Amino acid sequence: MIKFRIMDWIKAERKYLFQTYRRQPVVIERAEGSWVWDVSGKKYLDFFSGLAVNNLGHCHPAVVKAVAAQLKKIIHASNVYYTQPQILLAKELVVRSFPGKVFFCNSGAEANECALKLARRWGSSQNRSEFISFKNSFHGRTLGALTLTGQTKYQEGFSPLLEKVLYAKWNDLDSVNRLVSDKTSAIFIEPVQGEGGIFLADRIFLKALRELCNRKNILLVFDEVQCGMGRTGNLFAFQHYEVQPDVLCLAKGLGGGLPIGAVVAKDEVAALFKFGDHASTFGGNPVVASAALQVLKTMSPAFLKLVRTKGERLWEELNLLHRDFPALIKEVRGLGLMVGIQLSGPGDSFVDFCRQNGLLINCTHGTVLRLVPPLTVSGREITEAVKILRRAFESVK
Ligand code: PLP
Repeated sequence: MIKFRIMDWIKAERKYLFQTYRRQPVVIERAEGSWVWDVSGKKYLDFFSGLAVNNLGHCHPAVVKAVAAQLKKIIHASNVYYTQPQILLAKELVVRSFPGKVFFCNSGAEANECALKLARRWGSSQNRSEFISFKNSFHGRTLGALTLTGQTKYQEGFSPLLEKVLYAKWNDLDSVNRLVSDKTSAIFIEPVQGEGGIFLADRIFLKALRELCNRKNILLVFDEVQCGMGRTGNLFAFQHYEVQPDVLCLAKGLGGGLPIGAVVAKDEVAALFKFGDHASTFGGNPVVASAALQVLKTMSPAFLKLVRTKGERLWEELNLLHRDFPALIKEVRGLGLMVGIQLSGPGDSFVDFCRQNGLLINCTHGTVLRLVPPLTVSGREITEAVKILRRAFESVK
């Protein structure tokens, strides 16, 4: 390996890569569990988890083992053939979510694109072509997913976008009712908004959306790309609400760090796609599917119970911070190990302080510190992270 200094890597990145990411100045080399190391050997406690991806921590031994075993058998086979890990994974997803069928792709945006195409088909026989999503939502960067995303800052300069997406107010049934018409084919919602700043859907609201969709024959699509895969203390966030979607979009944590997306759809919805209607070269790749299968196996009911306990501990400790810094912290909100600290001002300087002191977090929506630690995080690591956060708030008190 070339012996580069950190600045050399940063300079090379500027020269050779699209400048689409405002990266933090850490060149990460390796990781294990809740910890990552940079090229200089500095160690960080990772409460960002590769943006809510490393839900089992970094390089989880069972995932590494499953991937290594699969690598020796076959790395890729086209979907023109059958492969066992993909079929086993689909079965596991259906068993753990709701009866239906699965389509595999490679990312969250792709999962939403698949759901959009399903929704188009769903509406096409009745001339329904409108979609409803929510203000402040985030569904990805491909043109369809970008249109669903209810934040103009991501859409600027990329018009014309998809016709026709209408944006309802979060948790406001009247707002949805005003937008619903005989042209509506689907409603897309994150049960817990992630990028938008960690906002939970109200239980009554989500139930009312389900009833509305049933009454009007509208598809209800849950985007659980960020809030799914154990993040909230249940395997899927919708399981807190006792409301089932017609279509469930997954990605991020599903692959244990490898890229995968999945769409689970009820049978009558999955049946809208005939042979050749949708495809993905890499979708359900055997290596990635083996990793995902191991992730699901590891996320047993006992594991998820522990996630809820850890979530409570994190909450208790953050509530003390809230009490001690009322001028800086407006609110702590979230579910399980998906937590947002709503600040009264910009959050970037806190992120910088934390990183310099060995804790990785990020700031979303300008003023929300997002904590999405590995679900395998220990109680001691939670306390250590909150201590660093406390010092960050003390530094500006
Ligand atoms: N949907 C949600 C809720 C997300 O949080 C994200 C990414 O942050 C996406 C979709 C897009 O996923 P990807 O970046 O894998 O395309």
